[in-house]
Amino acid sequence: MVQNLPVKTLPFKNLTIEGWSRAAVQSYWRIPELKLGFDLGAQPWSFMGTETWFVTHTHLDHIAGLPVYVARRRMMKMEPPTIYMPEHALDAVEKILKLFTRLDRGRLPCNLVGVLPGQEIELSREHVVTTWPTVHTVPSVGYVVWERRKKLKPEYLGLSGEQIRDLRTSGVEITEERRMPLVAYTGDTSPAGLDACPAAFEAQVLITELTFVAPGHRKEKIHKFGHMHLDDLVERRNRFKNELIIAGHLSTRYNIKQVRTIVEKRVPDLFDGRLHLWL
Ligand SMILES: [Zn+2]
Ligand SMILES: [Zn+2]
Repeated sequence: MVQNLPVKTLPFKNLTIEGWSRAAVQSYWRIPELKLGFDLGAQPWSFMGTETWFVTHTHLDHIAGLPVYVARRRMMKMEPPTIYMPEHALDAVEKILKLFTRLDRGRLPCNLVGVLPGQEIELSREHVVTTWPTVHTVPSVGYVVWERRKKLKPEYLGLSGEQIRDLRTSGVEITEERRMPLVAYTGDTSPAGLDACPAAFEAQVLITELTFVAPGHRKEKIHKFGHMHLDDLVERRNRFKNELIIAGHLSTRYNIKQVRTIVEKRVPDLFDGRLHLWL
């Protein structure tokens, strides 16, 4: 396998979280078991087989890899991918792809789908994705992947198999859908964007941004530029019900050791071991 970009891998329960993310450099994430990825700041060769992507916003560190990814899939004779992104960007991205087609003399077949906050996207029988408005310096959305299951309605729980079959054949709806938030991905956002999505605090896995950690960095300024500081996570400590909280998108002002030192000093227990720094 060609190794063109760094990829960090973290198995967690039934999922594997893969990716890499530093502010202003590039962000890309993938969960192979869910057959989807988030953001296309760049595209590791190994991610090519994933054909559904969700882009949070159009800063280059989150979208610059899009044409390359589409071109590779065509070259490898794979189906055109489906890429969801904030609706306002569709027109411009289509134009960019046309211009690259002219320069590269190769078609760039893909299914671009615009999304708005508060939308629902059917992925499969088991999975649904919802969007919510995050708060950044360009229009942006976050994504929640939900697992859904048909469960027998409580009023029918005591019935025999035969009675249930009879009800079903008579056309009675005996099941209802239950949803469980599996993964929430915020992309870049100020804390207001995280707060805008209660499911982000409930999801089994939360992947969020933590651009700044140093005590000296002024929070008002950080929030104004649509980012978060370590203090913002600490303030929300009791609200995070997640089993795993991944914090990525760290600023390049810090090296890996500095981030670890600052975070371990401020949060020695790493939220009972649930906080994972993506470094
Ligand atoms: Zn970014
Ligand atoms: Zn951004």
